[in-house]
Amino acid sequence: MVEILKYDIVILGSGLAGLRAAFQAALTSKDRLRIAVVSKLHAMRSHSVSAEGGISAVLYPKEMNDSIDLHAYDTVKGSDFLADQDAVELLVKLVPEEIRFFDHLGTPWSRRPDGRIAQRPFGGMSVPRAVFAADKTGFFMMSTLYDNLLRFNNVDIYHENMATSILMENGMFRGVTAIDMATGEFRVFLGKAGIIATGGAGRVYSFVTVANSSTGDGIAMAYRAGIPIKDMEFVQFHPTGMVPSGVLITEAARGEGGYLINKEGERFLKRYAPQKMELAPRDIISRAIMTEIKEGRGFVQEESGLEHVLLDLRHLGEEKINERLPMIRELSKKLIGVDPVSEPIPVRPTTHYTMGGVHTDTYGQVMLDESTRIPNLWAAGEAACVSIHGANRLGSNSLGETVVWGRLTGEAAAQYAMRTPDTVLQVSSTLDEAIKREESRVFDKLLHVESAAENPYDIREELQTTMDKKVGVFRDQRGLEEAWSTIKRLKERFSRARVENRTRIYNNNLRDFIELSFMLDIAEIIVVGALNRTESRGAHYRLDYPKRDDVNWLKHTLVYYRRGEPPSISYIPVRITRWAPEERKY
Ligand SMILES: Cc1cc2nc3c(=O)[nH]c(=O)nc-3n(C[C@H](O)[C@H](O)[C@H](O)COP(=O)(O)OP(=O)(O)OC[C@H]3O[C@@H](n4cnc5c(N)ncnc54)[C@H](O)[C@@H]3O)c2cc1C
Repeated sequence: MVEILKYDIVILGSGLAGLRAAFQAALTSKDRLRIAVVSKLHAMRSHSVSAEGGISAVLYPKEMNDSIDLHAYDTVKGSDFLADQDAVELLVKLVPEEIRFFDHLGTPWSRRPDGRIAQRPFGGMSVPRAVFAADKTGFFMMSTLYDNLLRFNNVDIYHENMATSILMENGMFRGVTAIDMATGEFRVFLGKAGIIATGGAGRVYSFVTVANSSTGDGIAMAYRAGIPIKDMEFVQFHPTGMVPSGVLITEAARGEGGYLINKEGERFLKRYAPQKMELAPRDIISRAIMTEIKEGRGFVQEESGLEHVLLDLRHLGEEKINERLPMIRELSKKLIGVDPVSEPIPVRPTTHYTMGGVHTDTYGQVMLDESTRIPNLWAAGEAACVSIHGANRLGSNSLGETVVWGRLTGEAAAQYAMRTPDTVLQVSSTLDEAIKREESRVFDKLLHVESAAENPYDIREELQTTMDKKVGVFRDQRGLEEAWSTIKRLKERFSRARVENRTRIYNNNLRDFIELSFMLDIAEIIVVGALNRTESRGAHYRLDYPKRDDVNWLKHTLVYYRRGEPPSISYIPVRITRWAPEERKY
């Protein structure tokens, strides 16, 4: 018997975007609405806890020679002019309020000697404006939010409940199906309104900074539910992944003054971004590092064979490293035995962030094309593409996005739910059939396939290495075509794979299997978008089309699911309100 739980709002995901949405919905509705937060992890294990360096906001415009307009311009330029400028303007206007909101809730922001909130430089930002809590910013924001959320009686957090599908009926969101990992029970969360806040999809690659759980589930579930996915060819590669694991060395290390050095002992960025040097945007630095490596000026790590450059923090001194970058020192010592106080850290570009995602309007409402909105569904955080990051996100703007759009979508969903009667939560016969089909797919089809021979873990590994090799910092038509045919072959093999573990309680094998089905779709969306986009813009660099092409490509990609057929693609214009595209120099 399927358990059906009825809520006013169902929020998928308990990272910063999901929890901020829940908080705002609870505040807006007082006690009038019941809110469910459904998360495949314990909330405090959501990937947001690992955010390190900071969240950018204009706090002291006069003193720092800063302005809301300058933050917006930096973001638009950083995006290589693909961001929707009305959305960027909304971000920069609201994010200072969020800093104060978190301050009042109790986030221990790092302080200046005068006691006011401190700010540090970040790549592509004209002035120091990243607010931080040492190098554990995400953890402190999450714990503040989580602790404060517990005071609301009308918010139920379903930890370790993995959603398997989004239910839609007559163009409206109806709810989600999920497995309670602890018991193996199949559940349905019905909602008058829904918010997708399931984070990014970095795990479709192998050398990554992101958590194992960042498999793009919400994006893939939306895709299968008929929702277009926007701009997925723009995958951010962070310049400084620790070698050999890919674990992040935060940009704050360069913000605090760290240097990047090649085999010749040169600060090679002078050739690529002479003004900004180590504080140029990530797409430019990642390409610079890969070029140094290709041209023979990199190092090779003996054990892993990985080529890399060095991040040198020694000149910052022990005191500053301990105060501003304690986690970096600890990670580097523990993981690779390098103490940055006395030795440089080996680094190379690593997959870090999903610029694309579920197609929404400026306020996070999910859209089906350029103008049609789904009345009761929103998306926020890394799963969404609003789009404020365009072709290249500036570091420290993502945390801002999670909380600003968490707040906006939580508020909008609450307003919608308060004016919607409970009768919409009745289960129609069509919905009942859809629920039964999904239950049978998950438990009968996946758990009881006898004859299959394929190992899903082999498929996952091949998928990730293919993405690393063929859809990386530099791409071209041949590599992308090869990647697409590999993905199609892997999908075919996946149809013959099976879940070995048949138990219901904490069946992680089943979880991995479902995640892999999402990852295969996500990889295909990335590749078809990248193959079609015959230009270079931001993080999408085509060796065969090395120039930005505003005449033909100043537009967003939308990819649609077609059952049993290749995905279909269409394009919509970029919203330009104030800043005409210009050459991007740093
Ligand atoms: C190492 C690292 C450091 C970073 N540092 C910074 C920084 O300093 N500044 C900055 O601006 N950005 C930073 N970022 C980026 C930023 O941390 C993320 O973009 C942001 O935290 C994403 O938050 P989110 O709420 O959208 O998703 P997440 O925090 O990833 O949460 C996703 C949620 O969805 C849930 N979920 C996923 N799939 C399912 C499913 N099938 N069913 C149910 N629940 C599901 C998960 O359980 C989780 O609760 C960093 C990223 C990394 C990798």
